[in-house]
Amino acid sequence: MLIYNSQSRKKETFVPLKEGHVGIYACGPTVYNYFHIGNARPFITFDVLRRYFEHKGYDVTFVQNFTDIDDKMISRANEEGITVKELADRFIDAYFTDAKALGIRPATVHPKATEHMPQIISLIQKLMDNGRAYAVNGDVYYRVKAFSDYGKLSGQNLDDLEMGASERLNVETGKEAPADFALWKAQKPGEPAWESPWGMGRPGWHIECSAMSMTYLGDTFDIHCGGKDLLFPHHENEIAQSEGATNKPYVNNWMHNGFLNVDNEKMSKSLNNFFTVRDIAKEFDLEAVRMFMLSAHYRSPINFSRDQISQAHASLTRLYTARDQMAFLLINAPNRPLNSDEEALANHIDACAKRFDDAMDDDLNTADALGALFELVKEANVTLNGESAASIIANAVYTLKDLTNVLGLMQKQADGLPSDIQAMVDERALARKEKNWKRSDELRDAIKAAGYILEDTPQGQKVRQAL
Ligand SMILES: [Zn+2]
Repeated sequence: MLIYNSQSRKKETFVPLKEGHVGIYACGPTVYNYFHIGNARPFITFDVLRRYFEHKGYDVTFVQNFTDIDDKMISRANEEGITVKELADRFIDAYFTDAKALGIRPATVHPKATEHMPQIISLIQKLMDNGRAYAVNGDVYYRVKAFSDYGKLSGQNLDDLEMGASERLNVETGKEAPADFALWKAQKPGEPAWESPWGMGRPGWHIECSAMSMTYLGDTFDIHCGGKDLLFPHHENEIAQSEGATNKPYVNNWMHNGFLNVDNEKMSKSLNNFFTVRDIAKEFDLEAVRMFMLSAHYRSPINFSRDQISQAHASLTRLYTARDQMAFLLINAPNRPLNSDEEALANHIDACAKRFDDAMDDDLNTADALGALFELVKEANVTLNGESAASIIANAVYTLKDLTNVLGLMQKQADGLPSDIQAMVDERALARKEKNWKRSDELRDAIKAAGYILEDTPQGQKVRQAL
């Protein structure tokens, strides 16, 4: 599989650190509001990345954090007169509701910054110990000059950065150099704070992603992804923090999705074109939003408009109609050998499935993969009728189901696992990973009670509807 690595700026053959396993870290939301459609793009893109690796037989550990402490969290909680924790809990719940409606599966782990203070503090301590960080009045800064690789991801040169940043340098912060950034912020009156060797305070934003990714995936891991807007300074700073502390490579592949515009303008509150996923859900089926996102290559810019979503909805309906029609034909289809037209269709289905995988292998080209899917549907519609052999109809239906499942589309009917059952299966996988056998057994019973047969196999859980 080829993946475009933002650091080398070229497509590279993906080689996992550990055969058969992929570790992925995706920057998650700051939970001070409902997430917007710009945020939905990376969540959907990297959910597809994970599904595709699973389709190829990899065991995937997918980590996506919640930033549950930062300036925006504090000011929003103050405005509402609630605690930061209450605010975080509310929008974490909302995240899971909206993500589910968009077909985004829960990650293997969703770590929260506030629950990883020991790991964050110990990472900062390592940087203090080796001279790459310094404390000033309870704040701790990263000493960018002490990390010679700084700028290697974004391709920026430290001298230019210093020039650019010097105008913004606030002499009162006590920073040694303009490009230095905060690892730990001393507590201000009324702010939540944690104990640290440098006094009461809270972590900077960048350090939490370094600490949490390495906690769950190790010092070096396969893929780190996020929106292009996070490449600098967030991801550049993560490299400086992690490699600065461990002296080992941090990430093998950096993946960044392109921007999302709304009606050809950059989305912003001031332009009044800022939509949360909740806003969109009032007007559109969110599965159409997912379809729309996947209709372009993830690195290309994409333009969100009502027309585009309506078109995506129409495409999705074509897929559903084809599938339902085939399922209907299957009920009374004869069991007999294939005739020559059906043999040709069988070859065509194989070719479309291969085209699908080839497209996905080429840096996750979902636009071309969808093209292969529509080709399959078109050929099936032309060939299949009330006389068709059962095995060719079943072949078309199951191939369609298998491939749309990779994209997280057509999750609605009992033909695949309905999303509530899938959510239980996902939660059970997590419970088993954490050796929480009690929860795992409860979920197994709930899945059974809902009419599904569950088997634990060496490849993981196998679930199908009880007939
Ligand atoms: Zn991050």
